[in-house]
Amino acid sequence: MARIRKILSSYSLIGLIRYLRIRLMGKELLVTGSCRCCGNCCRKINLQGAQGWLRSVKDFKEVVADYPEYERFQIIGKDDQGYLQLSCSWLDAAGLCRDHENRFSLCKNFPDKTLHFCGGALPSGCGYRISEVRPFSRYLADEVKGQRKK
Ligand code: SF4
Ligand code: SF4
Repeated sequence: MARIRKILSSYSLIGLIRYLRIRLMGKELLVTGSCRCCGNCCRKINLQGAQGWLRSVKDFKEVVADYPEYERFQIIGKDDQGYLQLSCSWLDAAGLCRDHENRFSLCKNFPDKTLHFCGGALPSGCGYRISEVRPFSRYLADEVKGQRKK
């Protein structure tokens, strides 16, 4: 039961469909590209709390109570999935982080693959790409199998 609750809080409906599709097709996620420093990922942020992706002001307040440093985020609305979207007050007018050295790990790790499973998409203009690909190990296994048949 706890496992089911964890899955439901980690995936939106679209995200769950993506997850199942990847599992069924034996694929994995691959992140490619590089940052163009456009700052768009700091303007529309989905945040995850202990109970999953934040959906309400109450959810956000609970996170800030535990992590006061998250006060820098401001709610700007909701996305198509019904998840809160936030912007960061640490972004300066030039679109750069005011404290790049001390930014959160969620900022350093962007784009995290979990974004794909909350049904989200990369911000427009982002230099990264998240793709569903067949793992190299499967190509290798096919090649070995083909060699054995010869
Ligand atoms: S802390 Fe910096 S990198 Fe992280 S969201 Fe805010 S402006 Fe962006
Ligand atoms: S949206 Fe993508 S390219 Fe723009 S700052 Fe964020 S990671 Fe870099």
